Formats: sequence, C-alpha cells, structure tokens
Amino acid sequence: MTKKKTQKKTKEKTKAKSQKKNKSKTLKFNYAPALESTKVEILEKYGNFIGGEFVAPKTGKYFDTVNPADGKKLASLALSGSADVDLAVKAARKAFKSEWSQLTGSERGKFLFRIARIIQERSRELAVLETLDGGKPIKESRDVDIPLVAQHFFYNAGWADKLDYLVPGKKVKPIGVCGQIIPWNFPMLMLAWKIAPALAAGNTVVLKPAEQTSLTALKFAEICQEAGLPKGVVNIITGAGETGAALVDHKDVNKIAFTGSTDIGKLIARNAGKTNKKLTMELGGKSANIVFADAAIDQAVEGIVAGIFFNQGHVCCAGSRLLIEESVKDLVIKKLKARMKQIRVGAPLDKNTDLGAINSKEQLKKIRDLVKQGQKEGGEFWQVETVLPTRGNFFAPCLFMDQSGSSTIAREEVFGPVLSVSTFRTPDEAIAKANDTNYGLAAGIWSEKGSKVHMVASKLKAGIIWANTYNKFDATSPFGGFKESGYGREGGRHGVLPYVEVE
Ligand code: NAP
Ligand code: MG
Repeated sequence: MTKKKTQKKTKEKTKAKSQKKNKSKTLKFNYAPALESTKVEILEKYGNFIGGEFVAPKTGKYFDTVNPADGKKLASLALSGSADVDLAVKAARKAFKSEWSQLTGSERGKFLFRIARIIQERSRELAVLETLDGGKPIKESRDVDIPLVAQHFFYNAGWADKLDYLVPGKKVKPIGVCGQIIPWNFPMLMLAWKIAPALAAGNTVVLKPAEQTSLTALKFAEICQEAGLPKGVVNIITGAGETGAALVDHKDVNKIAFTGSTDIGKLIARNAGKTNKKLTMELGGKSANIVFADAAIDQAVEGIVAGIFFNQGHVCCAGSRLLIEESVKDLVIKKLKARMKQIRVGAPLDKNTDLGAINSKEQLKKIRDLVKQGQKEGGEFWQVETVLPTRGNFFAPCLFMDQSGSSTIAREEVFGPVLSVSTFRTPDEAIAKANDTNYGLAAGIWSEKGSKVHMVASKLKAGIIWANTYNKFDATSPFGGFKESGYGREGGRHGVLPYVEVE
C-alpha cells in the first residue's frame, strides 16, 4: 500500500469514528407525517346521501366541483331536483317517527360523541379535503375549522340527555324534519353548527351544502355510516340554488336553518313563511374593528389582520371596517402595511400560506368589480405587491382609506381580503360610525381600559363583540346577528333552543 493510500484510509476511519460519535449524541425526534401526505379518497362521482345510502339523483344530472387553487376538477356531484329533495325529506320523516325521536337523550348523545371522535380521528383527511375543495389555507382547516367541528359535536352531545334543563321549568320536544342550507366559506363548520344541535334535540335533517364546497359534507355522510347512525337521520343533497329552494318549499319540512347572503335569506324568509316553517337566519355582515389610542397597537394590528384577512376575508363576521382613533392613525397604518406585506398569499396546501385561494371565479370577479368601483369613488387605495400564482383564483390583500362613509367599500359586504379604513375622535363617534350599517353581526374593540370596552360594547348593535381579540370562536358561545345579519343564534345553549318546541 502506498503512503498516500494509507493516509486516505486513516482519514476515512477517523471520519467514520467521529460520525459514529456524533450520531450517538444526536437526539432523535419523531415527526408526524406531513398533512399533504394524508390520503384523501375522492370518488369520481357522488350521489346524494339519503336514508343512509349514496343514491344517484333522479334528475340524472351532475355538476363539477373544482379546486379553486388550480381550477382542476375534483369530482362530479349530484345536481338534485325536487324529486330528490322529496326522497330525502321522506327518509328524514321516517327516521324521525320510527327511531330518532324515540331514543333516549343519552342514546342520541352516544351517536354524537361517536361522530365527534371519528371527526377527530379523521381530522387530517377532513382538513386536506376542506382546503382542496374550498381554497382555505391548510393551517386554518387544520387548526381552526376541523377542531371546532369536533368541538360542536362533543358540546351538543352533552345536551342530548340534559334537554330537561334547557328551558328552566319546562319540557321540550323536537321540531321534526329540519332543512338546513349552508354557504361555502366554512363548509364543515357550518354543517356542524346545524347538524349537531338538531340531532341532539331529537330532530332529523336534510342538509344542502353550497355547490362550490360539498365534498366534506359527503365525507361527513361516510362518517355517519361509520358511526352506525340510524338511516335517514342525516340526509345530504347536493345541487344548486334551486335544490335549496325546493327544500324551502317542501311541505313536510318543519324548520329551515339558513346561513348565507342577506339577499337569498330574504327570499327564503318570504317563501318559508308560505308553508309556516320555523326559521333561523345567519346572514351577512360589515363588522367594525375599533382601535382606541390607548390600545396595545402591535396586538391590535395582529387582530386587524386576523379580522379581515383570515380565510381570504370569506368570513361573515370579518372586521371589514377598521375605525382608528385619529391620533394613532398614522402609526397603526404604518404598522398595518408592514404586517400586510408579510402575509403569504399562495398555495392553500402549503403550511406557510396565510391567505389561500378565493373560493370561486365568480367570487373573485365580485371582489375585483367592487374594488374597481371603490377606486372610482376616490380615497386612497393600497394593495400589497406580491407575485400571485398564475393558475387559480387569487387576490392580494388591500385597503381603502379616507373614503366617505357612504362609499361602496364602506357599506357593502365584499367577502374578500379588502379593508375599509376610517377614523374617529371620540368614543361616541366610534359607536355612531360602527352602528351606521344595515348589518349587525360582529365588532371588535381594542383598548387597555376595561371600563371603556364595556361602555362601548353596551352601545354597539352587534351580536358578537370581541375585546382585544378578533375572530375567536367557541362551541359554548352563541353566534348570530341583529338587523340584516339575521336572527336566531348558533352555538351554546342558545343554539339548541331553535331546534325544540317548548311544551
Ligand atoms: P348564498 O349565495 O346566499 O348561498 C348560501 C346557500 O343557499 C347555498 O347553499 C346556496 O346554494 C343556497 N341557495 C341559493 N339560492 C337559494 C334559494 N333561492 N333558495 C334556497 N337556497 C338557496 O351565500 P354564499 O355566497 O354561499 O355565502 C356567502 C354569504 O354567507 C355571505 O353573505 C356571508 O356573510 C354569509 N355567511 C353568514 C354567516 C353567519 O353566521 N351570519 C356565516 C357564514 C356565511 P348554491 O351554493 O348552490 O348557490
Ligand atoms: Mg370546490
């Protein structure tokens, strides 16, 4: 062996030795598999879920559901007509009479607990599917939507055997068959808000998800099968606006619970009145986020960002109107713009994404049109400069300042990442401006002074008021609005009340 070769061999030996030594020092971590590696089975074609089975629509028609982040088709869904709705209502009626309303509360509770646990077990799959079909960032589906969905089932499962305590001194009984119509912004969460209390109270349901985001509702149907839920207790019919209208018009439906736009809500209220149905309505909003000069500004900026840019601004209670006390306006805007520049817009399945895809082409067009209109109406417009993905529906976060209170952006629900900013000098002016809207869903107050927070909160006409935080939800807390934001409450004890008759 030559001298060179021997030297090389010794070097290699020393290296291997030191690697071995280091290896023994290295700590070992077990990482959970990445969310993207979760396998989600999406069938090519889905029928309706009626009487515990998936059945082809009587219309024979189907429509596509797409991934808004790339425009690619995910599956074909049943385009249901009134005959399909009728079939689902019949199945729900049969299950109500023969089985569900006959079970004891604790038996019903067992099914709800079982569903809640399966949701937890399958949470990754549900989160990925919610993101694929609806475009919301995976970190929101994973950390907000699906955990809350499970929480609503757990919470309402607890009510099932305690209905004697729901209304003090009174007995309650279920209403019957409930028709439930939900929007596309929180598909699975809206399903949970509606199905969990309805079932806990002993009703059966026919649910119509939004046409853009029906896939997690159909996964939920599989979960009902897995939980052994009696057939017909939950029925899910997919389709368009006409499908929802057929459900509203059906004579054997006892109640309609609707979440969606104020315009459709008004239409439904008129039609449901004709057949004497009970109604709850969760509609739109134009909520004010009020920042006082004594607030912790950095936290307030985080809250403003969470208030309007969370879920692409597709949030009924979004803090879409920012009211800043004049003396801190420049500081808040400077910090807000700096923070907005850090928002990552892009692929919803990327765990680092803050702002995902706009839910549909139609919604993207609506946002663009309203923003164009806002630009024509004057004031300052500022938008984050960022490179948006070339495919799919994306919109960069933006704000409008110094517009008049009557401008489109200050009054209309944009349902996108668009913030309207104005200022105030006194608490009274802040209250007057916050209440100057047709809506009354939510509000945020930022101040270090508890007394000021309570005083302002008591004068705001909003169903949900957050202090020094925004967009925080809990299954035990009622949610709902005043004025054109609807009536009825979901969540908490209040959320069970609309699903019972008081004897
Ligand atoms: P939308 O257009 O009103 O639709 C909501 C649901 O109603 C969908 O399932 C829709 O079906 C169905 N529908 C449409 N026309 C109907 C009709 N004539 N009869 C019966 N059902 C009909 O609302 P969206 O655009 O999906 O959702 C956004 C709106 O929801 C926003 O205004 C937002 O503020 C509101 N929202 C409110 C709350 C709350 O708790 N207050 C929560 C979330 C969202 P198709 O999908 O097939 O059209
Ligand atoms: Mg979709």
